[in-house]
Amino acid sequence: MNNNNPADDLEQTLRAIEAAYAANLPSRLQSLSDALEQCIREPAAAEHLNALLVKLHGMAGSAGTFGFARLGQQASDLEIRLTAYIKDVKSGASHDFSPLAAGIKELLRWALINPKAGEGVPEAQANVPVSHAVEQDNADGGRLIYLVHDNAESVADIAAQFQYFGYEVMTAGGLEELEQAIRRRPPAAVVMDLAFPSGILAGAEQIARIKAVSEHRFALIFISTRSTFEARLATVKAGADGYFSKPLDMVALVDLLDRLIAREEDEASRILIVDDEVETADYHATLLRQAGMDVRTLYKVENILQVMGEYRPELILMDVYMPACDGINVARVIRQDALYLDVPIVFLSSDSNLDNQLNAIASGADDFLNKPIQPLHLISAVTSRVKRYRDLRSLIMRDSLTGLFNHSAVKEQLARELATARRMQKPLSLAMLDIDRFKSVNDTYGHPVGDQVIRALSRLLQQRLRRSDIIGRYGGEEFVVIMPHTPASAALPVLDQIRTSFSNIRHHAEHQDFTVTFSAGVAEIGPDIDAEELLRRADAALYQAKAGGRNLIVKA
Ligand code: GH3
Ligand code: MG
Ligand code: MG
Repeated sequence: MNNNNPADDLEQTLRAIEAAYAANLPSRLQSLSDALEQCIREPAAAEHLNALLVKLHGMAGSAGTFGFARLGQQASDLEIRLTAYIKDVKSGASHDFSPLAAGIKELLRWALINPKAGEGVPEAQANVPVSHAVEQDNADGGRLIYLVHDNAESVADIAAQFQYFGYEVMTAGGLEELEQAIRRRPPAAVVMDLAFPSGILAGAEQIARIKAVSEHRFALIFISTRSTFEARLATVKAGADGYFSKPLDMVALVDLLDRLIAREEDEASRILIVDDEVETADYHATLLRQAGMDVRTLYKVENILQVMGEYRPELILMDVYMPACDGINVARVIRQDALYLDVPIVFLSSDSNLDNQLNAIASGADDFLNKPIQPLHLISAVTSRVKRYRDLRSLIMRDSLTGLFNHSAVKEQLARELATARRMQKPLSLAMLDIDRFKSVNDTYGHPVGDQVIRALSRLLQQRLRRSDIIGRYGGEEFVVIMPHTPASAALPVLDQIRTSFSNIRHHAEHQDFTVTFSAGVAEIGPDIDAEELLRRADAALYQAKAGGRNLIVKA
């Protein structure tokens, strides 16, 4: 797809950021010099001293990252001395600014001429391989299934079942046809629907060969009415991921396919970088993006709560010291909101003072990394924390049968979505779904079969709705769908299509197949409607749908 080596791309990007920093350095040094002059004139004026501290701190935090290690180190030492000096001035202790002024002047003297002076051979920091870029070969074949058959009549029915679950299906009347199709457009899966054992034997051999030469990996599943042990063994040898006999348990089959295919669709981690140093923020963002993460940078901390609400980061990487507000207080502000109690906050700082680190941890930070940081170290620190956060969140928020948000999580999400919709003045719809006459499904086929039906509906909702829609299991056989940016008039046809698909899905029980329907009520936010009222209206509309005969969707 791309002809450049991603590692080279990264190398180039990092070099460009470094070059931008280097180009900007003289003006930074000049403004440090100006701040120093002010302090020399008024060595006890807090505002001047603080302004100088900000400049030194910025340099201490960024210079090392961009290959000016000596400059970064000296700025950091001077920052510590200046902090102590400011304390003395505040407490009224005797103070003399001249030794400190001399130190800063000395730094300016050499740095203005040659800021790389005293650097050894530059450490090949960015040469560490950090390319985890995911190959996207299957980009448009993500939900494509080739269905190979030896009976054109029965295959249409199976194809339709796959389509209800949101798969794109193409049929092939034989393996030659399949081989050509794979070359044209690689699928996510191949399903072999072959009635006779002899067909399975021959088919297994051919598909094994096709698989071996194909550049693209695909899942492989066999289905058949009749088979012998020999034929099944052949499918295993052909590298089949599953074997299903007829009558087909479609839900189980789709379940397996989803698991086989979903692996690559894992969502990228969302990382928020908060740093007033634009170059440093961009540098870290570049590294993390290269590792496949989704990154937002925030240079002005004032907007943090808004960005938290919209972006929902799974980890915050924050500079400790920023002019507007220090990171430790920002962490406290974030932790005040119950929604963000467990989002990992990792501080990045050039300050290696242990007291400050402990202070940061006490404020609710999860970790403290020192700048400059090795790219691989940063990536692995962030990756492991996001994983832990996701594991924890899913334990707390997910329903174990379906993997959907549970009752309390869905209410939490609703509160958040409502607030966002209000602020952005966007519509939002909420649907309440309930499976029709579910009690009789349990009574007729047993509770485990009932569970399968619940999972089938959950799967269908996940496949058909947008990523931004929020799906929850609200109660036993009741679901809630939150559709941001969507008026009820647009939600209705979408849900109605899902209703039709669901009513066509064949569920499988021991002695017979059967179908099930659901009903739903849809409500839209209005000026004075809070979460409770929205839920109440959707529920009332659902009640009407039930009263109206079921297998219906009613708008409040
Ligand atoms: P209606 O069309 O009016 O919704 O009728 P219904 O039978 O679906 O409604 P009712 O609320 O009377 O029955 C819901 C049934 O769902 C009762 C309960 O045993 C069953 N149920 C609840 N949770 C689960 C579950 O997790 N698994 C299974 N299999 N059944 C469940
Ligand atoms: Mg119910
Ligand atoms: Mg019901």
